[in-house]
Amino acid sequence: MKQHDQVFRFLIQNTAVRGQLISLDASWQKCRERSDASAYAKTLLGHALSAVALLASTLKMKGQLTLQIRGQGPVHLLVAQATSQRSVRGLVRQSKPIEHSQQTLQQIFTSDKIVITIDSGKGHRHQGIVPLTGSSLADALQTYFEQSEQLPTRLWLACNETSASGLLLQKMPGQNEDLDSWNRLTQLASTITDDELLELDASAILHRLFHQETVRMFESEPLRFDCSCSRERSLGMIKSLGKAEAMDIIQEQGKINISCEFCNAQYDFDPIDIEQLFASDDSIASSPTQH
Ligand SMILES: [Zn+2]
Repeated sequence: MKQHDQVFRFLIQNTAVRGQLISLDASWQKCRERSDASAYAKTLLGHALSAVALLASTLKMKGQLTLQIRGQGPVHLLVAQATSQRSVRGLVRQSKPIEHSQQTLQQIFTSDKIVITIDSGKGHRHQGIVPLTGSSLADALQTYFEQSEQLPTRLWLACNETSASGLLLQKMPGQNEDLDSWNRLTQLASTITDDELLELDASAILHRLFHQETVRMFESEPLRFDCSCSRERSLGMIKSLGKAEAMDIIQEQGKINISCEFCNAQYDFDPIDIEQLFASDDSIASSPTQH
C-alpha cells in the first residue's frame, strides 16, 4: 500500500549518494482544488510542489523555500513553497489558453527565469535565479544545481489528478572520487516512469530502481498542506500600505478585506482595527526615543 503525504529518506550504502522520495496526496488536492487553471498548468504546480518539498528537506537550517515564476504568458504566475517543518502550499494563475505554438516553459510563462528564495526567518534570505529552459521544471532546476555551489542533485517529478510525487538523488560532499556510483545511480533512477513514481510505494520504487544496491531507508515523515497566513501578517501588510492609503480603503469600503491567495482565508478589518493599528505607531513616534 502506498503511503500518502510522506517523505522517505534513504542512503545507498557504499556510495556517497543519498536520496528522498515524496508523495503529496491530500496536500496536493488542497492546492489543486483552489485553482481554476488548465490541467497543464496544474501539472506544473504539482511538479513545483514536489520539487520544493524535496529541496526544502535538504535545507540544513529551519526555513522556507519558495519557487516562483512570474511572466506575461498564458500561465503568468506559479508559486510553490515548502518549509523545513514539512508543510507545502502553492498556487498557479492562468489568464488565457496556451497556444499550440507555445511549447517551452519560457513561451508558456513568457518569462526567462525561475526565482528560488530560501528564507531562514531571521532576516537571512538567499535568492537564486535559474534560467527557465526546457520543457520541464525538473530540467530547468537541473541548471540550478549545476550553476550554484549546491551539491550535485537530480530530480524526477510526476503529477496526476490525485498525487504529486518526486524522487531526489544527491551526491554528498567529500567523496568526489565516487563519480562512478553517482553516474550509475542517476542512470538507474532515470528509468523510473511517471506511473511508477505516482503509484508504487517507496520501498517498491527503491527495489525497482536499486535492487542491486544496498539501500538503507529511514523512517518516513508526514507532509501536510499548511498556510502561513494569519490576521497578524495581514495587519502587517496593511501597515506597509501606510495610514493614508489604508484610510482611503476604509472610507470607500467601510472595511479592509484581505483574502489569502493560497488558502482562501478571509481577514476583515474594521475602522477601529485600522485606527488601533496606526495609533500604536503614533504613540511610538511621539514617545521619547530610548536607547
Ligand atoms: Zn492562507
